[in-house]
Amino acid sequence: MKALVETVNLTKHFPIKRDQIVHAVDNVTLTVHEKEIVGLVGESGSGKSTLGKTILGLHNKTSGQVLYDGTMLPQKYRARDFLSSARKMQMIFQDPYSSLNPRMTVGEIIGEALKLHTNLNNQTIRDRVTFWLERVGLHADHASRYPHEFSGGQRQRIGIARALILEPEFVVCDEPISALDVSVQAQVVNLLDELKKSMGLTLLFIAHDLSMVRYVSDRMAVMYLGSLVEVGASNEVFFDPQHPYTQMLVSSNPEPDPRRERNRPPTPVRGEITSPINIQPGCRFASRCPKVMEVCRDTTPELITLKNVAPGKDLRQVACHLYD
Ligand code: SF4
Repeated sequence: MKALVETVNLTKHFPIKRDQIVHAVDNVTLTVHEKEIVGLVGESGSGKSTLGKTILGLHNKTSGQVLYDGTMLPQKYRARDFLSSARKMQMIFQDPYSSLNPRMTVGEIIGEALKLHTNLNNQTIRDRVTFWLERVGLHADHASRYPHEFSGGQRQRIGIARALILEPEFVVCDEPISALDVSVQAQVVNLLDELKKSMGLTLLFIAHDLSMVRYVSDRMAVMYLGSLVEVGASNEVFFDPQHPYTQMLVSSNPEPDPRRERNRPPTPVRGEITSPINIQPGCRFASRCPKVMEVCRDTTPELITLKNVAPGKDLRQVACHLYD
């Protein structure tokens, strides 16, 4: 499969005070292939959203590269870079309440990208807005209403229509369902899945719900404190996690069958994600890891490809000294 988006040692640091740096994303090398969905999982504060925004140029890179279809994207985006990349790459934002301008009608919000990036006349833009409203399960007459008149699920559909109206190839979905009720989450995920199949989209699907990511994505990348710790086929990572952090995430994932959930041994999640400020060498998960060894405290594990993968299974990458 052809690589569409590649990050090479992508790093994003935020200086906060003198001598204090937040390591939001550190040395992330990840490939998203054409028409693939890669799920990015991890606890809050692990750098998932920052990685998605840095790929799209919404944050300047501290170092490293992003390649789109083999072409290196600018280190720092200027207005004209956004104009050229917006038709290929888009983002669906996490919060359907704050990501829509309350002073604009839904029609203006969805049609804005066409006004900025095409020479279409007003009537054609209105027709395209109507088409996309219906495509995401809303009605044509919703175009004249304002965002506050809609429920959370409907607003997220508006956000999806706004992102897809330019028919991009690559979309970063930044926790698109986390602010929604469980019943609405399934509708939005099914809509994204259907649009992905019909439009041949490539998605980076960011979420902290492991079972949802397994359902949605082809491959899964697990992130901890700014670094990737495990990458592999979604089902294989979910049912046979190798990294102690992924094992912890999987074991704390609720079991949908209430009887099996009751009988499941308790698996307390140890500790909390540590501070991303001025991170020292060594494994970032060492303070929480039940398998920590001496070497973990001062040597940072590299993301390596496991060699002993069973026949028929996909390649698995893990960053842990247990597999050195
Ligand atoms: Fe645990 Fe060491 Fe592996 Fe880190 S490198 S996950 S501390 S065993």
